[in-house]
Amino acid sequence: MKVLKNTIVAISFVAALGTVVLARANQIVTIGTGGVTGVYYPTGGAICRLVNKSIKEHGILCSVESTGGSIYNINTLRAGKLDMAIVQSDWQYHAYNGSSKFTNLGSFKDLRSIFSVHPELFTVVAQSGKGIKTFNDLKGKRVNIGNPGSGQHGTVGVLMDKMGWNMDDFKQVYELKAGEQSKALCDNKIDAMVYTVGHPSGAIQEATTVCDSVIVEVNNVAAQKLTSENNHYRSATILGGMYRGNTDDVATFGVGATFVSSSEIPEEVIYNVVKSVFENLDDFRRLHPAFTNLKKEEMVSDGLSAPLHRGAQKYYREVGLIQ
Ligand code: GLU
Repeated sequence: MKVLKNTIVAISFVAALGTVVLARANQIVTIGTGGVTGVYYPTGGAICRLVNKSIKEHGILCSVESTGGSIYNINTLRAGKLDMAIVQSDWQYHAYNGSSKFTNLGSFKDLRSIFSVHPELFTVVAQSGKGIKTFNDLKGKRVNIGNPGSGQHGTVGVLMDKMGWNMDDFKQVYELKAGEQSKALCDNKIDAMVYTVGHPSGAIQEATTVCDSVIVEVNNVAAQKLTSENNHYRSATILGGMYRGNTDDVATFGVGATFVSSSEIPEEVIYNVVKSVFENLDDFRRLHPAFTNLKKEEMVSDGLSAPLHRGAQKYYREVGLIQ
């Protein structure tokens, strides 16, 4: 967090409003998100837009950074180089508990949750005509599993472990970033791509409009075990009709996108960020179709395994959302 002298004048461009807001900021905070064709990036943008609207009241200037995704965000938050971040609920759980990918680093005890946002579905998209109908059909194929800092890179590994597969089960493994995978699919560099993402997302839209591609079912025994054995996974459906050429519902599993911070970030910063979003939740819901069904009561608890940040707790108590 950059703390500016009170006298410094910061300029924030509120592009969506088409106006230039000139306001007094005494601190700048940054939210780590994901690739620009995902949903984290517009989510960070929506949060910052509401925070910056009331900058005169609290002096906090909110900015968004496009990043490699969940695991990168958690590690960067831990290193003190981000103030807030959006991360998958499974990786929030493992980071706080020092499990799975975080076993070597140990528990990130200062991790704090703020609220949960939209559902994210484990989404596999394959080129049409390659005979890929379910996750198991990816055997012997060229698959993009995402860049190493991304949530999907971790989650596909968890699923494959459960299936008793390893990366050699694919013909070729690619670790392309979220923003590069749809082009790779349509250029026939890969047969399928894996993305844990909210819907609709720019990347899946691109993959299904630039070329003919299909959303693939991920509902094998391993996926079913993951959802029955862990609270941070749930079975989910990608609704038909959302993307070109994909008219039927597809069964898969999912996690939640969660908004997190660290206990190092001051109470008043998180309090004001939460207040800006919760007092304008109708506006927030309109900023992305993935937010349509958000409910305050669920946002303060769903998928949150790290303790609530004290600034968030203060606001939720004030308005009676928690005891
Ligand atoms: N779930 C992805 C990740 O953790 C990001 C999805 C998005 O950017 O919307 O890396």
